[in-house]
Amino acid sequence: GSSSLIVSFGEMLIDFVPTVSGVSLAEAPGFLKAPGGAPANVAIAVARLGGKAAFVGKLGDDEFGHMLAGILKENGVSGEGINFDKGARTALAFVTLRADGEREFMFYRNPSADMLLSPEELNLDLIRSAKVFHYGSISLIVEPCRSAHIKAMEAAKAAGVLLSYDPNLRLPLWPSAEEARKQILSIWDIADIIKVSDVELEFLTGSNKIDDESAMSLWHPNLKLLLVTLGEKGCNYYTKNFHGSVPAFHVNTVDTTGAGDSFVGALLCKIVDNQAILEDEARLKEVLRFACACGAITTTKKGAIPALPTESDALSLIKG
Ligand code: ADP
Repeated sequence: GSSSLIVSFGEMLIDFVPTVSGVSLAEAPGFLKAPGGAPANVAIAVARLGGKAAFVGKLGDDEFGHMLAGILKENGVSGEGINFDKGARTALAFVTLRADGEREFMFYRNPSADMLLSPEELNLDLIRSAKVFHYGSISLIVEPCRSAHIKAMEAAKAAGVLLSYDPNLRLPLWPSAEEARKQILSIWDIADIIKVSDVELEFLTGSNKIDDESAMSLWHPNLKLLLVTLGEKGCNYYTKNFHGSVPAFHVNTVDTTGAGDSFVGALLCKIVDNQAILEDEARLKEVLRFACACGAITTTKKGAIPALPTESDALSLIKG
């Protein structure tokens, strides 16, 4: 566990997941409600590992918004940074499970409450009291949450908080691929830690190679750690002084949703009270092994939040 606060900023929503795969949305016989949203998953990942986490974002003042706030609370995540919008509804996603195992998303964002968080509503004291501030890029898509995102990030930076960025590309939400790339990169240089997936690396660099050269093309001078996650191939890490890779654990994968969020939550939890780890390759590798174990465990159960591990789950997998 950790004793210092990790604040995660952004969206929280409900995925409606069909009870069977390989049928269209209209043909689905029923849906299960799966709460998610990458920043919320990261906050819960931290709390489940025994860390101290808060979520900052906006929900609808409706049944789903209060359900989501309740899930954060039950999981030990502070809700001090949550706002409820009186007018707009909580964001929803309708998932299609394709026969090949891939997922397609249709979003209700019309606009949804998360997009309406304004800079004035931010709990800046909470953000400034954190040791780590984590965020994605979906909150950059529209105003006013784009301005809120930037204000929160800048307040955290000015207070000496470590900034952690997982762009978490959801291309269908953006007006165009050009705009997504431009906005995602517009906040690149302020981050201390950046995690991208192999798919995001290709998207952001425009190269079809997932190698050290393409990763290093995303490096910026003030970055402390760049991570490229590779699913069942583990991850690659890059710092100013060293780089290398950590293999994945072999597990019985049923649903990869939330693996990246679990990985990030575990990493942040392990470094929040000891940022010197970022400069020590042996210790960093050990932390990334733990993060890979957490990511792997998250793929062994359906959904993201129910599949996030405890510290002892992760240690059992590591010990074998
Ligand atoms: P993202 O969700 O951001 O695309 P990944 O799918 O690469 O991220 O998952 C993050 C980490 O979780 C990986 O680096 C890996 O360690 C672990 N992981 C993901 N998928 C699997 C899998 N199928 N088997 C084992 N580990 C996995």
